[in-house]
Amino acid sequence: MSDSNASPIRVLIVDDEAEIRDAYRQILLEHEVTQEMVGFRELRSRLFNRKNPAETARQRSPIRAAGFEPVFCDGAQAAVTAVKEGLARNEPFAVVFLDMRMPPGPDGAWAATKIRELDPAVEIVICTAYSDVDPCEIGGLAPPEDKLSYLQKPFHPHEIRQLTIALASKWRAERRIVRLAYFDALTGLPNREQAHSRLVSAIQSAADNQRTLALLYLDLDNFKRVNDTLGHAVGDELLRVVAERLRSSLRYGGDGAPGDASASPRVGDLARLGGDEFLVLLPNLRNVADAGTVAERLIAALREPVQLAMNALVVTPSVGIAVFPRDGQDAETLLRNADLAMYFAKRRTPGTHAYFDVAMNATALHRFTIEEQLRGALERDEFTLQFQPQFDVRTGTISGMEALLRWNSTQLGAVNPTEFIPVAEETGLIHSIGKWVLRKACEQARLWRDEGLPFQRIAVNVSGRQFALAEYPAEVAAILEETGLEPSRLELEITESVVMADEVWAQKAINELKQLGISLAIDDFGTGYSSFGRLRHFSVDRLKIDRSFVSSVTECNDDRAIAAAIIAMSRSLRINVTAEGVENFPQLAFLQEQECQDAQGFLLSRPLAAEAARELLRRVNEASDESRTQRLKVIIG
Ligand code: C2E
Ligand code: MG
Ligand code: MG
Repeated sequence: MSDSNASPIRVLIVDDEAEIRDAYRQILLEHEVTQEMVGFRELRSRLFNRKNPAETARQRSPIRAAGFEPVFCDGAQAAVTAVKEGLARNEPFAVVFLDMRMPPGPDGAWAATKIRELDPAVEIVICTAYSDVDPCEIGGLAPPEDKLSYLQKPFHPHEIRQLTIALASKWRAERRIVRLAYFDALTGLPNREQAHSRLVSAIQSAADNQRTLALLYLDLDNFKRVNDTLGHAVGDELLRVVAERLRSSLRYGGDGAPGDASASPRVGDLARLGGDEFLVLLPNLRNVADAGTVAERLIAALREPVQLAMNALVVTPSVGIAVFPRDGQDAETLLRNADLAMYFAKRRTPGTHAYFDVAMNATALHRFTIEEQLRGALERDEFTLQFQPQFDVRTGTISGMEALLRWNSTQLGAVNPTEFIPVAEETGLIHSIGKWVLRKACEQARLWRDEGLPFQRIAVNVSGRQFALAEYPAEVAAILEETGLEPSRLELEITESVVMADEVWAQKAINELKQLGISLAIDDFGTGYSSFGRLRHFSVDRLKIDRSFVSSVTECNDDRAIAAAIIAMSRSLRINVTAEGVENFPQLAFLQEQECQDAQGFLLSRPLAAEAARELLRRVNEASDESRTQRLKVIIG
C-alpha cells in the first residue's frame, strides 16, 4: 500500500465515444492541470499566506507533484479488465468515470457492479447524457452509495477536474485510515488482522492449487529484558531494526534460482503480530525443508549486534514452523501450531527453529494447563505436605521426616511433583510455593517436637531457583524465627546439579545457610557427576544416594560398587549418608552390611499425611525400649 500524495492519481475513463475520451484527456493532461493548480495555489498563498508563494506552492501542492494518470477504455468489459490489472499490480484506480450507455456492449450499470465487486474502495462516477439514471437503482447494484457520484453530460472541464481532485483526496484519506487499521504503526508492516486475512487467502490458494504453504512464527528471545532495562524507546527502535532486517533478508534472501518462490517470499508476507512477535508466510513451498532454511537465514540476520543508545544489543528469535496442509487446515490451527513449535524451540534452545509435530500438542497443552492452574493454587489452598520417614538403620529409629509437596488441583486432580515443580521453577512460582512448604514443614516439626515425639530433623527440599537468591538465607531465618523451630532441627535438601552448576556461589550460599545453625543435604547424589574431592570443599552434612543406585545394588555390580564407595568415602569425610528409594529387604540388607546410616523408601514407609506420620512417630516412641528388630517391625508393620 504505497501511495503517497506524491504519486499520481490513477483515473479510469470509460466511454465508447472517442471525442469524449479526448475531452477527458485534455482536461486531465498533467501539464494543464499542473499549471492551473499552480496558478490557483499561488493566488491562494498570496491571499492567505505570508511565506514565499512559489515555495509554499511547491511544498503544499500534491497535485502539482503528482498529476493525474488517466487510463482510457472504450467499453465496459475493457474497463473491468483494467481495474483487475491495476489491483494485481497494486496500482488501483482512485476514480472511475463510467459512461452509462456504450452500445452494443454491456452498459455502465453492469460495469459499475463488476468494478465494485473487484474494488470496494474505488470512487465511481456515472456519466450520462440522459437524465434517466436512477441513483437508487445503481446504488443497489454497486454499493455503497457514498462512493457513487453522478455527472450530467455535457460536462464542463472544471467539473471533471474538481470532481477528480475531491474524490481522489477522499479516496486517499480512506486509504490512510485502512493503513492505520491494517498496518503496524511502529514498523509499517502488516498487522495481525491483515496477516490473518492474508493467511486465509494464502491457504485457499494453496488448497486450490494443491501447494504447500509454511508459516514461520518468530518471537524475540530477550526482548523483554531490553524493554525493561533500557526503556521502551530503545525497545521500539530495536523492533524497527528487527523489522527492517527481516524485510531485507526476505527481499534479498532467495538463492537466486529462477522461480525459487519458496526460498524468497514476497516482502508482503511478513507481518508483526504484536509485541515482539512476527509472522512470515512462505506460499508455494517446494519442499518443507526450505522453510527451515529461511528460518535459519532470518535468525542469522538478527544475530548481528544492533547498536542502540550506546548499547550493542543482540536479539535472536526463536522460530516455530507449521506447514499447510500437514499441520492444520485453517488459519487458527496453523497459527496456534506454529506458535507452539516456537515455544518448544525457545524452551529447548533459544535462537533456533523447530517444526511443529503432533506430540507438541498434547505435551504443550498439558504444560500450559499446569501453568495456568498452578498460578492460583496457593490461594485456593490446593497444596498439602506429606512426610516420609528417614530411618536410622543402625538403631531402628526414625531420624528424620522429609516433607514432600502434594498438589491436588481442583481442575487436574493430583499432579506429580516431578511434573509441576519444573513448571513452578520456570515461572518463578517456586519462590512463593517453596516459602509455603518451608513454613508448613517447620510448623509441623514444631508441633511434633512440642508433643515430645522422637525425631531429630525435618528435611525440606529447596529448588535451585530459591537457592540462587541472595536473600534466601534471610528468608529461612525469618521462617525459623516465626515458627519457633530450632535451626538444628531443619535440614535443607539441595540437588547435586544445583550445587555443581555454580560452585563458587554454592559454597557461599551453603556457608551462609550453615551459619543459621541448620544442616544441609545433597539430594539425588550420584546423578550429577560431582567428585568427592570437590564435595569436600562444601560443608554439607549429608549425601542422599540417588534411588537409581539403590534400586540396582542387588542386580548391577557397578551400581553396587558405586553405592559402597559413596558410603565408605562419606564415612571417611564424616558426612552422613541416606540411601533413597529402599524398596526391598535385600537392598536394606546391603545397606546394613555397608554400615550405611540412614535409609528412606517404600519398604520402610511411603510418604504419609501429617496425621499418619504423627501416628507412626508415636508408635515408634512407644517401642523405644524394644530391640532394634522389634522397632523395625513397628515401622514396617
Ligand atoms: P526427592 O527429594 O528425591 O524425593 C524423594 C522422592 O522419591 C519422592 O517423590 C518420594 O515419594 C519418592 N520415593 C521415596 N521412596 C521411594 C521408593 O522406595 N521408591 C520409589 N519409586 N520412589 C520413592 P515425590 O514426592 O514424587 O517427589 C519427587 C521430587 O519432587 C522430589 O524428589 C523433589 O525433588 C521434588 N519435590 C517434592 N517436594 C518438593 C518441594 O517441596 N520443593 C521442591 N523444590 N521440590 C520438591
Ligand atoms: Mg529430597
Ligand atoms: Mg532425592
